Amino acid sequence: MKIVLQNLTKIFPARDKKNGKETIAVSDFTFTIPDGKLVGLLGPSGCGKSTTLYMISGLQAPSGGKIFFGEDDVTELSPENRGVGLVFQNYALYPHMTVKQNILFPLQNLRGEDKLTKEQMIERAYEAARLVQIDELMERKPSELSGGQQQRVAIARALVKMPKVLLLDEPLSNLDARLRLQTREEIRRIQKETGITTIFVTHDQEEAMSISDIIVVMKLGVVQQVGAPQDVYDDPTNLFVAKFLGTPPINVFKGAVKGGKLILGESEVLDVPGVDDREVFVGIRPEGFIPDVNGALECKLNNVEVMGRDVSVVSTNEASLNPIIRSIVDSDYKIDKNDESIKFSLKPHKVFLFDVETEERIRFEV
Ligand code: ATP
Repeated sequence: MKIVLQNLTKIFPARDKKNGKETIAVSDFTFTIPDGKLVGLLGPSGCGKSTTLYMISGLQAPSGGKIFFGEDDVTELSPENRGVGLVFQNYALYPHMTVKQNILFPLQNLRGEDKLTKEQMIERAYEAARLVQIDELMERKPSELSGGQQQRVAIARALVKMPKVLLLDEPLSNLDARLRLQTREEIRRIQKETGITTIFVTHDQEEAMSISDIIVVMKLGVVQQVGAPQDVYDDPTNLFVAKFLGTPPINVFKGAVKGGKLILGESEVLDVPGVDDREVFVGIRPEGFIPDVNGALECKLNNVEVMGRDVSVVSTNEASLNPIIRSIVDSDYKIDKNDESIKFSLKPHKVFLFDVETEERIRFEV
């Protein structure tokens, strides 16, 4: 089921009507989510991710704009009639019911032509449980399950009604690191197996990048960029997006362009053809540095952290806007951590320039 968001807007009025300011939680969001894809809604706390999800689910009414499921306008439709499955961060299972009863629960409320016989309900419940691999745990109570298992029950409960759309709001936040990794792979598998159009809200960029077909990066209610995770990482539209994606994060410098050359400090570090003379912010991905005795960017070497295949080089430079520069280089480069300084050349496609006022990207020919 394709989902179309048309100029979707949500404004929360001020609590204090005289002095307070209204909150524009989501501003003029227009986007088509293709059928069967997993979309990651991504951004820092308060950027409007959950509000977007709740409007799609019907739990919150938009202040403006429309939502279509396929060709149907569902903007005014109640949540029960939208055919969405919702999973929240806190699993919200009924503690006094067994896993089986929890999964069966949404089916017991079906009325009219959707009403199922008891046998059909049990069959559906087991089908959903098998999909998330908890069919061995059906007689247990939620308190007898691990966090990851509880979240899988919540997903099974959302899937059992065979929703057209699956909405997941920070579903992995309560899990420890290992379970998070495992459960996100599970979610990806289930999504692929069922082909349900899925929207996944998270503030964790790594999580969103790893499982999404498409990511939507939001800031203060405004969509910044939409695209395949790798494309957004490789080609960020502004400094916010460049900084938000990537671990370790992008290194940001203050620099200038003169005569088609990028200058950091006193050094000409890269050709940037087609850019007029100006001041710029410069983002360099950690993997964009090449240790090179003839390199133009000289940094004070602080530390070399061994990571196995790669090493993480920690250095400083006066032009850097971050306290340290972190670069990731192949461990084949033998870097002596006792050296005073290190010289780098730069990979042009890992270097991004931004306007110092608007922070929008300034492109050069690579
Ligand atoms: P988080 O990751 O912290 O959950 P989020 O990106 O999901 O954040 P939202 O919960 O969508 O953000 O909130 C967006 C903005 O709308 C925030 O500034 C928030 O304070 C505000 N907001 C959310 N719900 C309400 C509400 N019911 N009344 C007033 N303001 C609200």
